[in-house]
Amino acid sequence: MKQYDLIVIGGGPAGLAAAIAAHKNGVSNLLILERDQELGGILNQCIHNGFGLHTFQEELTGPEYASRFIDEALALEIPYKLSTMVLDISTDASTGLHCVTAMNRTDGLLQLPCRSVILAMGCRERPRGALNIPGFRPAGIYTAGTAQRLVNMEGFLPGKEVVILGSGDIGLIMARRMTLEGAKVKAVAELMPYSGGLQRNIVQCLEDFDIPLLLSHTVIDIQGKDRVTGITLAQVGPDRKPIPGTEQNISCDTLLLSCGLIPENELSTKLGVSLSPVTGGPLVNESLETNVPGVFACGNVLHVHDLVDYVSEEAGRAGKFAAEYIRQTAGDGAGIASAKQNSTTQTDSAAAANGSIGIPLIPSGGVRYTVPQSIRLSHMEDTLLVRFRVGSVFTDAVLTVTAGDTCLLRQKKKKLAPGEMQQIILKKSAIPADAQSITICVAKEEG
Ligand SMILES: Cc1cc2nc3c(=O)[nH]c(=O)nc-3n(C[C@H](O)[C@H](O)[C@H](O)COP(=O)(O)OP(=O)(O)OC[C@H]3O[C@@H](n4cnc5c(N)ncnc54)[C@H](O)[C@@H]3O)c2cc1C
Repeated sequence: MKQYDLIVIGGGPAGLAAAIAAHKNGVSNLLILERDQELGGILNQCIHNGFGLHTFQEELTGPEYASRFIDEALALEIPYKLSTMVLDISTDASTGLHCVTAMNRTDGLLQLPCRSVILAMGCRERPRGALNIPGFRPAGIYTAGTAQRLVNMEGFLPGKEVVILGSGDIGLIMARRMTLEGAKVKAVAELMPYSGGLQRNIVQCLEDFDIPLLLSHTVIDIQGKDRVTGITLAQVGPDRKPIPGTEQNISCDTLLLSCGLIPENELSTKLGVSLSPVTGGPLVNESLETNVPGVFACGNVLHVHDLVDYVSEEAGRAGKFAAEYIRQTAGDGAGIASAKQNSTTQTDSAAAANGSIGIPLIPSGGVRYTVPQSIRLSHMEDTLLVRFRVGSVFTDAVLTVTAGDTCLLRQKKKKLAPGEMQQIILKKSAIPADAQSITICVAKEEG
């Protein structure tokens, strides 16, 4: 059986950018495995524009954005297998080599040994079952992503009178899409007192079409036996529980759910990758490497991104770091085994002192999480891009990054919202060599 240097799982924007970067950094013995019948991932169903402003300084549709990367991967002759579902990843403890088990109709069951793996499986939507909405189970309830696929790829309009629960970007975009296709979107209800989507989507997808956004509201009942005939909305209090007396019935034939995305990490968990309880994605170090040596993660499987441009940028780094790992462990399986040994023993001194691998990045105040979650100074480049999200809306806030008594960064922020991912750049030269931890904090500006 052929042994690969790198296997990339998922042929969406993250997998494509990671494979391209790895190839450009000298890895030609690689393979992309994609369960769908085409490359491009979820972007194939996102036919609206707004993609690529950062990467290409152009407004592209999802398929146009994806095709830029597909064309590049094809030009580099990066091998890939479509309609191929990865079922399992395991690691041989004695050699450090990984084995990717996959299945397709042509090859049957495949067991592919490789030195390194990039996880790029994306995310899925939270379904009704995970939301505990009471009521009957009639037809007419879809996740917003399923409705997006039905409308944009399969040519079906799932309903004519629509209520959307959840104001994340997919919900907002589908409110506009359904309206443009002739449906009446009666309301977008949001449990939280703020939208989970980008401000530009609230304006362009709701306000421009006079679609009401009902903040601090949720669906408390679904009516209809065979097909949805209506739903009941209620206002919620600060405890997110419905307030009696605020109920309102809305007749509709369709309820779209846009209530959060969950990274696709079943394969990661089975492999022994440690996941963050906040992001649902792997915990990674500055090289986007998980706790399993040689296994890297990027894109929505790592943490849910607001813009695909950031997915591509992050995946490019994962590809480059995977190439670096492959270079460092060149030789036979024993090379990897010793790299594995090193990666758990060659911790930075301060980090070793507190028992973790690398200096931990600690979210504080309003910061919910950071990616990466730790930094090995010995492996850090001159600068490191750290992405994070806040847990609620902050106005006139101050962002501080500290390592013990040393202030690494202090910035005033006019507005920070959970729907918009934030980023900072840390300079290696500014981090004290004996740093025990680095704290990233957002707090209301005092005075
Ligand atoms: C329904 C939906 C709609 C979205 N709409 C927008 C939008 O309008 N605008 C926007 O900026 N962002 C949107 N996003 C976010 C978008 O997903 C990201 O910007 C970007 O596509 C993430 O890239 P990715 O490669 O990480 O994930 P994806 O694009 O999801 O790609 C992951 C790929 O991995 C494959 N895969 C997963 N598991 C396996 C396996 N076991 N074996 C083989 N292959 C596997 C999947 O088939 C998929 O092709 C949307 C996300 C979802 C879920």
